[in-house]
Amino acid sequence: MQIIRDIPTLREAIRSRRTEGKHIALVPTMGALHAGHLSLVKQGFEHAQAVVVSIFVNPTQFGPNEDFSKYPRTEEADCKALEGVGATIAYLPRVEDMYPEGAATSVKVAGITSGLCGAFRPGHFDGVATIVTKLFMQVQPDVAIFGEKDYQQLAVIRRFTQDLDIPVQVLGAPVIRESDGLALSSRNRYLAPAERAIAPKLHAILQEAAQSIKSGNAVKTALEKASQAILQAGFAKLDYIELRDAATLAPLEKLTAPARLLVAAYLGTTRLIDNIEVAP
Ligand code: AMP
Repeated sequence: MQIIRDIPTLREAIRSRRTEGKHIALVPTMGALHAGHLSLVKQGFEHAQAVVVSIFVNPTQFGPNEDFSKYPRTEEADCKALEGVGATIAYLPRVEDMYPEGAATSVKVAGITSGLCGAFRPGHFDGVATIVTKLFMQVQPDVAIFGEKDYQQLAVIRRFTQDLDIPVQVLGAPVIRESDGLALSSRNRYLAPAERAIAPKLHAILQEAAQSIKSGNAVKTALEKASQAILQAGFAKLDYIELRDAATLAPLEKLTAPARLLVAAYLGTTRLIDNIEVAP
């Protein structure tokens, strides 16, 4: 595995893989890698012969009171894990190369970013869209793999990729979970043992609400019940729990189309997100 930190070396490495006739997959991450990230790399190899994994804790997608400075940085372990799954290139760009002095351009996606996490994390998806666009321009992959764990993010990336005619196929990958149902996340390591014990209830409550909706109960009632259950379970704050159209993310009052049930809640100061499919 090649570890690359600058754009010229990256471009040269990509060019040489291209001349070998290889297709390129890109897996963007912020590091602190876990089995969820590694599943994306494996999926990458189903579509390409070279997989580039970027690790970059992107400052522009964190709000001023969010966890940018304490976000886990575990570069050595990450590179070892990537080597273990046979990644071709680990790309760890420097902040000053990604955002050089004088940089003044950002990618702003309207509509789909206005609700859910977008409503609670102003500017977050502008940061995501800008950095992912830059990674697309730098790597110029054939395919890029993103987890359904960040379901709204995946929808935003699909949106601007189409809107900007970026020639990359964007693929989603299923959420990888602990055996107790907790979705793997780099932020899970913030959880104190007592919080970790509560955390899987988020997924259990989502499943219960999805089942209730599927069996014909009113969406509003099912979501109210789930909201109460989340707070009763010991979550400090609920940002949202909503049923949305799986493709457009439009709000759904009834299960009339393939849907997604999405949630964001705080356990202590740690913000957890999760979502599950709700088929009509
Ligand atoms: P992050 O490092 O949190 O920015 O995530 C990098 C990529 O990994 C994103 O596409 C995430 O959606 C994906 N990802 C994170 N956690 C999981 C998970 N538990 N299962 C599948 N994909 C995940």
